[in-house]
Amino acid sequence: MQKNKKLKQTKYIFVTGGVLSGVGKGITAASMGAILKAKGYHVTMQKCDPYLNVDAGLLNPVEHGECFVTADGVETDLDLGHYERFLDFETSKYSITLSGSIFKELIDKERSGGFNGKTVQLVPHFTGLVQEKIEKASENSDIHIVEIGGTIGDYEGLSFVEAIRLFANKVGRRNCLYISVVYVPWINTSKEFKTKPAQNALKDLRGFGIIPDIVCTRTERPAPKEIQEKIAAFAGIDKDAVVNLPDIKSVYDVPFNVLKSGVLNILNDFVGDRKKPDMSRWEEFSRRRNKEYKATVKIGLVAKYVGNNDTYMCVTEAVKAASAWNQTNCELIWINAEDLGSSDQQVSGQALDLLKSCNGIIVPGGFGARGVEGKILAAKYALENDVPYLGLCLGMQVACIAAARIGGIEKANSEEFGATEKDCNNVIYIMEDQKGKESTGGTMRLGNYPAQLVKGSKTARIYGKADVVERHRHRYEVNQKFLPEIEKGGLKVSGLSPDGMLVEFVEAPGKKFFQATQAHPEFKSRPLNPHPLFLEFVKKCKIN
Ligand code: GLN
Repeated sequence: MQKNKKLKQTKYIFVTGGVLSGVGKGITAASMGAILKAKGYHVTMQKCDPYLNVDAGLLNPVEHGECFVTADGVETDLDLGHYERFLDFETSKYSITLSGSIFKELIDKERSGGFNGKTVQLVPHFTGLVQEKIEKASENSDIHIVEIGGTIGDYEGLSFVEAIRLFANKVGRRNCLYISVVYVPWINTSKEFKTKPAQNALKDLRGFGIIPDIVCTRTERPAPKEIQEKIAAFAGIDKDAVVNLPDIKSVYDVPFNVLKSGVLNILNDFVGDRKKPDMSRWEEFSRRRNKEYKATVKIGLVAKYVGNNDTYMCVTEAVKAASAWNQTNCELIWINAEDLGSSDQQVSGQALDLLKSCNGIIVPGGFGARGVEGKILAAKYALENDVPYLGLCLGMQVACIAAARIGGIEKANSEEFGATEKDCNNVIYIMEDQKGKESTGGTMRLGNYPAQLVKGSKTARIYGKADVVERHRHRYEVNQKFLPEIEKGGLKVSGLSPDGMLVEFVEAPGKKFFQATQAHPEFKSRPLNPHPLFLEFVKKCKIN
């Protein structure tokens, strides 16, 4: 990474939010990053979140969206996925800083005498450690962007705000750029935008000693220039430093809205060069994505948490990117796995019809027994009817169970789903080192693992190489003792861990597309650089 570095002194961009959270601070921050990257800089990002949780892996996916896994095996929240997609870099354990982990480190140090009996305080100790984390995360970067979770004025986020204010003392104010993303509501009854909440948020920010260099106003619809001017006057900044970012169809078009504004000049001044960002690939992606094609592929997602897109964010983003590059529209069809079948429930005809209407089927990752029979049914249906199938982690396990059932083990199952007749039917079993840790957080096989693809397999052809590395998050694996039955049912191993102990990929030879992996390739798919498995999957769905 060092070789990419252009600037001697790393520059820092701090992004805070006002009025409301959840209005796209992360996307705004990542869009600025994408522009700077397109100017040739090595840009990295970090999220500071004021939760007292120590790691994000135990947060409920329904409440919190998908759990994103970094290459070095940390379970984090889905913002890091946005960062990777916008900037095409790999986040790490340093890219996420939670209050809980800062407190834990401070308290552990205090307990072991590390403070020599001194009073340990939020300032300077908490704020100091946050600054250390920011410096660590920004090693080797030209520009490091730090997003502060929550909104300005939140009680729990104050120490982070103080830390980023102090950071300017450390590296020099000219090496720091503060961006405030504020929500400006539209009042339908009086048909006007109201800037008061934004003014208050900016006043709060000023009260904490930060005058922003850029203010982004988030609105439901485009706001007139006067709104920007009014906010500029209240924030005490130039009107060109205020950019309106209204809701748009695709988050990947946000960089273009930023570029249309006066903000590019500010970013140029900040880094000290006026080189035009090369956005050609972004433009190409936008063109392809926004076009209406004749063909539409219907992709069925057989899952447990339907109706909350955030839960499978990386999967849906990977499918959408692959569709754009394949020049096809795509329709995601959510199929509740429980409706497709459970051991004590009849298959709903409606769910089955929905499955049959799809050009391709994805079974994404998941945990626990709920809905698993429906997922097995979906894999079996795909295998028997030659419908393109992509199995991701649990999606590979259910494919192996389906194949083993076809291959003669009628009661084939996974140890995870409470199957009792242990040895004779558990084609998926617990990894030796995971025994007894089934309900604890952060103990799984997590992060990057290499795999060797079988020569001549379709998987190897799709990847275009034999040695691959993908990210993992699981406890169970294929019991190779059952490979003869799995093969009899139509699946073949197409990739193994380098020591041959773990099945990493399976495929159905002779079928249009049936690929399944124990890994989560969706974590590595990028809008501008979609994952080959997703690309090929959508391609095959298109002609199905
Ligand atoms: N529950 C399965 C396991 O732990 C699959 C996990 C996943 O799909 N991420 O092995």
